[in-house]
Amino acid sequence: MTFDPETATFLIAGPVRIHPRVLRAMSMSSLNHRGEFFHGVVREIRELLPVAFGTTGHQVVLSGSGTAGLEAMYSSLLPREGRILVLSNGNFGERGDQIVRRYATHVTTLTAPWGQPITPSAVRVELERGDVSAVCAVYNETSVGLTNDLAGISAEVRRAGSPMLLVDGISAVAGIPIDIRGWGIDAIVGGPQKGLASPAGLALVHLSDRAREALHPGTFYLDLKAHLAPLEKNDTPWTPAVPLFLALREALLLLREEGLENRLARTRRLAEATRAATAALGLELFPDPTHASDTVTAIRNPAGMGDPEIRKVLEKEYNILLQGGQGALTGKIFRIGHMGIAEWPDLLVTFAALERILGKADRLPTPGAALRAIVDRMP
Ligand code: PLP
Repeated sequence: MTFDPETATFLIAGPVRIHPRVLRAMSMSSLNHRGEFFHGVVREIRELLPVAFGTTGHQVVLSGSGTAGLEAMYSSLLPREGRILVLSNGNFGERGDQIVRRYATHVTTLTAPWGQPITPSAVRVELERGDVSAVCAVYNETSVGLTNDLAGISAEVRRAGSPMLLVDGISAVAGIPIDIRGWGIDAIVGGPQKGLASPAGLALVHLSDRAREALHPGTFYLDLKAHLAPLEKNDTPWTPAVPLFLALREALLLLREEGLENRLARTRRLAEATRAATAALGLELFPDPTHASDTVTAIRNPAGMGDPEIRKVLEKEYNILLQGGQGALTGKIFRIGHMGIAEWPDLLVTFAALERILGKADRLPTPGAALRAIVDRMP
């Protein structure tokens, strides 16, 4: 077998596989982005976005990948007074910290080792030092396959008098439960290429009423006020990425057909099966297992085996694409994304191939056990 991107079992940590309906929706000739047809597309997206966020609010789609959404959020919302508290325990926490520091000077970064959660009690200690006007958190740290306890962290934020809570939810939206209103989230950014299974290149931003009021000009292109105003007329301030909007509408329709609760439940069941199958292979999760993410599983490479022995073989011999580690974790872990429209056959094929690879290397504790672990968890 050779690698074929069109037919591969595609389980990287996002972008994820895209449904053919979404692919077809993109295949249109140019549209007049100021015309009635496209305004109808934007209107429908606005109507559908609450399905992904699980609540209504001020919601906008930006042309530009998830990072553009983060830059829009931080540049338009970071208070100019007080101290900004950034929570960082992975590659995306570090990147968020870099963005925040472009727009704020009084910044404290609370870190935890990669793979360990940021605990609510550590956040409380920082908040009790006083003068915090905003807390910036990554909910699901894709780089290490870890979900921070945002419910617990947000409770501390509320206890401290509710400084702004700004969240990178790029690999969380439509992947894991988020109680935006209950947790008092002021702004959250989602990425369409993760739980929504739409192409990369857009950012979805949800704002609370309080955040809407607090918007101030930051960058020109990503000024959230400039994006929200024309939305009243289903318009965008600049030329939008029209094919990606068409794709997003279809992906949101698919989500509505499945139902957000059902998508989250399926994602969780696939994650549980992945973790059980990983243990059956004799492999270890990278993150603290009590905080393992349900959208992406990060697994330590077994001793003496790295990307050339595992991921490259999966790709070349079995047409399966998984993701490696980022930064300091390059060559140390591999990651399986099981969000969006991932399904049981994806896991069966992947773990069958992993069994074969480890078996050939004489590293497989119990042949068949990983597949059994998956089969036993199938509906
Ligand atoms: N934050 C998180 C948690 C992510 O998973 C990603 C992408 O994987 C990003 C930020 C960056 O998003 P993008 O690559 O779409 O700019």
